[in-house]
Amino acid sequence: MMRGHRCGCDVALRSTHNGKKLYVCTGNTMDGEPHLRTLWDEAVVEELAELKDDLADLDTQLVYIIQDCGRIDKLASEIEGLKESARKRDAKYAFEFKIALACAVLASFLGLTAFLS
Ligand SMILES: [Zn+2]
Repeated sequence: MMRGHRCGCDVALRSTHNGKKLYVCTGNTMDGEPHLRTLWDEAVVEELAELKDDLADLDTQLVYIIQDCGRIDKLASEIEGLKESARKRDAKYAFEFKIALACAVLASFLGLTAFLS
């Protein structure tokens, strides 16, 4: 379960004379005593506590992600609303332009008829 020690060296799992499992650092030390001696069950409990903390952090991050998704959804629907009103405005302008064009054509036609008669 334990992969390495803080010093950067590997950790080895050994058994003590009374059959308990023990993690020791394989790093070279001046006095021949390993940097680290941790009972396997203590290491497991420690690791589980760290995993629990990591899980709590992930849970918090997930809450933020969900909130962000909600905001993004809201923004997307606002953008859709803006697009829709832009489409309606464009359609209105196109219609007004057609009316104006028809009026201009009609005015020219009336002018031409008046001129010819
Ligand atoms: Zn070490």
